Amino acid sequence: MRLRQAVQHSRELIERWINQHVLNGKTNDELEGTLFVYGNEVHSLLKTSAGDWVLEPQDVPQVVVFRKEEESEPINMCCACGQDYASFKDSIQCCAYLD
Ligand SMILES: [Zn+2]
Repeated sequence: MRLRQAVQHSRELIERWINQHVLNGKTNDELEGTLFVYGNEVHSLLKTSAGDWVLEPQDVPQVVVFRKEEESEPINMCCACGQDYASFKDSIQCCAYLD
């Protein structure tokens, strides 16, 4: 039950992110192949020949993400959905309380 909820939550975040980036003018080519990491869950975004987006779960036992130093500066963008905010505080509250 917990796992199921976690999967649904990650899908909701991913769908939100995709919608946000489509609205911001990202092209299909730019979005295709995007890798989403949520805890130890990894999904890649693929487009079917019919033109539908599908999230393909990647079967990996463990996920480790290393950030480069220049990426560690706080930016005022929600890291879940990509929405820009005037302050860092607002950005971390964006998708933080979805449950
Ligand atoms: Zn957000």
